[in-house]
Amino acid sequence: MTALQIENLSVGFRTGGQDFFAVDDVSITVEPGEIVALVGESGSGKSMTSLAVMGLLPNAASVTGEITVGGTKVSGLSRREMEDLRGRRMGMVFQEPMTSLNPVLTIRRQMTEGPRRHLGVDRPAAERLAQDALTEVGIPDPAAVMGQYPHQLSGGMRQRVMIAAALALKPALLIADEPTTALDVTVQAQVLDLLVALKQRSGSGILLITHDIGVVAETADRVAVMRRGKVVEAGAVSQVLFSPQHEYTRTLLAAHLTVDEALALRAAEREGMS
Ligand code: ADP
Ligand code: MG
Repeated sequence: MTALQIENLSVGFRTGGQDFFAVDDVSITVEPGEIVALVGESGSGKSMTSLAVMGLLPNAASVTGEITVGGTKVSGLSRREMEDLRGRRMGMVFQEPMTSLNPVLTIRRQMTEGPRRHLGVDRPAAERLAQDALTEVGIPDPAAVMGQYPHQLSGGMRQRVMIAAALALKPALLIADEPTTALDVTVQAQVLDLLVALKQRSGSGILLITHDIGVVAETADRVAVMRRGKVVEAGAVSQVLFSPQHEYTRTLLAAHLTVDEALALRAAEREGMS
């Protein structure tokens, strides 16, 4: 079953008597065990797309199109049903785990609440699920971490906890919106490696939202490039990054050249000129 199917999604706002489309006729699918990246500059509509999937758009937004998560259509669900769908079928990981973790609750409390509420398991079973999930994401001493508060953990550890909390519910879909943007480079690479390892083990489909095309290159199977609310180019990562068809994709890539790549390109250009 397809993890996520977005068909002709548009998200509009009315500002000063004018309609503005933050998302404009976007279609994306994510299959189980696959990472699909949504990449584009700030303001291109990536977060609005993910908020539409989670049913968390601002009230002022008008939405058209169809979204299906793990076989369930999102449109027309009541608030209650949507909350239930989010809990059971969708895991969410955001840029700053400190804002999604509750500072006054232990990791144990935060990790066991989801399984207890959405999987209907008792406390000991929820604790086992939580501890297994922490082990799975590479937390060295899960039993100790269960008793700690978010501020006692490093940023990278907190993001692992968020990913573990999401995966403990075995969601059809994991939505990760800029999950590594607030982390330093080495930790960022570890968390991205973790996502790649988990997509294979968990079978969840992952929608990875990022402004960083380097993140796409390292993790994603397929990519949709967004600009001003529209998908301008989409396809397998190898195809889109190695032979971009759209000018905007080339611009994103050019802005991301490493020093080595830039030197190689300049050498190639000199070669071509001589
Ligand atoms: P991204 O995540 O790609 O940086 P967003 O999806 O957050 O971009 O934003 C897409 C567009 O929607 C932006 O132009 C932003 O200014 C606009 N936008 C965001 N929230 C609102 C709102 N509540 N009302 C009107 N426009 C909004
Ligand atoms: Mg965003």
